[in-house]
Amino acid sequence: MRKRLLCVLLAALCLLTACQKAPEPVEFSTFSMNTFMSFAFYGEGETENQRVQDRVNVTLRRLDSLFCVNNEYGDVNQINRSEGRRVKVDAPTAEVLSRSLELCELTGGALDITAYPAVKAWGFTQEEHRVPSPGELAELAGKIDYTAVGLEGEWVTLPAGMELDLGAVAKGYAGDQLDQIMRDAGISSALLNLGESTIVAVGGKQDGSPWRIGVVDPARPESYFAVVELEDMAMGTSGGYQRYFEQDGVTYWHILDPETAAPARSGLASVTVAAPSALTCDGLSTALFVMGLEDGTQFWRDHRELEFEAVFVTEEGEIYRTAGLTGRFSLAEGYEDREVTVLE
Ligand code: AMP
Ligand code: MG
Repeated sequence: MRKRLLCVLLAALCLLTACQKAPEPVEFSTFSMNTFMSFAFYGEGETENQRVQDRVNVTLRRLDSLFCVNNEYGDVNQINRSEGRRVKVDAPTAEVLSRSLELCELTGGALDITAYPAVKAWGFTQEEHRVPSPGELAELAGKIDYTAVGLEGEWVTLPAGMELDLGAVAKGYAGDQLDQIMRDAGISSALLNLGESTIVAVGGKQDGSPWRIGVVDPARPESYFAVVELEDMAMGTSGGYQRYFEQDGVTYWHILDPETAAPARSGLASVTVAAPSALTCDGLSTALFVMGLEDGTQFWRDHRELEFEAVFVTEEGEIYRTAGLTGRFSLAEGYEDREVTVLE
C-alpha cells in the first residue's frame, strides 16, 4: 500500500516537473533582402506554428521581390526604369513609399529614398567600389530629391534619370509586417531579427522579463558595448562599419549624405534607434547618422511624437544616449567603465 502511494506521489512529481519545464520556442531562419534573418517565437501547437512560419516566409519573399532594385518584375525596378511614366504598384510598395516619404520630409532630406544613382556610383550595389570625382558627385547630388517622387494612391511617378533605393527602410517595413503577423496569430512572445541590426521584440520573454538586445561596438563589430531591454519595441542600428571600403587610407561607407552624394561624415560611427515601429527605427537610424550628434539630438527633442530613443557612438568612441532609455540601457561586460552621456 505504502509502495503504491510512493509510486503515485512520484508520478505526480514527474508530471509537475514536466509541466514546469519551459516551452521551447519555434526557431527558423532565412536569407532575404540580401541578409541572413532569424526568428524565434512561442506558439500554440504545431499546425498553427507552421502556418505562422509560412506566412513570415511568404511575406518576406513578396516584399523582397517588390522592393529589390535588381528584380525586373519588382515595383522598385519598374519605377526606376519608367523614364517618367506612371507606374501602378502593389499596396505594400505604395505603403512603404508613403511612410518613407513622410520620414524623408520630417528629417529634412537626411533620409532620401532617391539616393540610388549615388549608391551605384560608389559601387555599393555591385561591390565594385570606386571614388567618384567631385564633378560627378555634384551631378549625382542633383539627382537626389525625394520631393520629386509622385505618389497618388497606388500610382507612382519618378522623373527620368532618378532612381529609388529602399535599402534604408525596407527591413524596417518588413519588421512591422512580421510583427503584425505574430500579433494576428495571437503570439505574445517573439524575437524577430531581420539582420544588419533590425530587431523586433514582440512582447517580452516567456518568463515576463524584457528581451535583452546587444548594441554593436562600431570599433569592434564582433562585440556588444551595451544592452537595451526591449518589450513590444523595435530597434535598428546604422553604422559605417556595416558596409564600407578603404582606398588610399580613407574609409568610405554606404550611408550617404544626400546633399553631397558622398559618405556622410557627421562625426558618428553608429546610431541605434529604439521605437514601437521598426520602420521608424530603420529610417531614423540612417537619417540621424547623416545629421550627426547635435542635429540628431535636436531632432529627438523636436519629434517626441515619433516615440523614439537613440544611442549615438562618435568616431572617437564617445557614447551618448537619450534620457528615455533610463532603466532600459546598460553597458555590456567589459565596457562597464565607459562614460555615457545622457541627452535631455
Ligand atoms: P541603413 O543600413 O538602414 O542605414 O541604410 C543604408 C542603405 O540605404 C545604403 O546601403 C543605401 O542603399 C541607402 N542609403 C544610403 N544613404 C542613404 C540616405 N541618406 N537616405 C536613404 N537611403 C540611403
Ligand atoms: Mg535604415
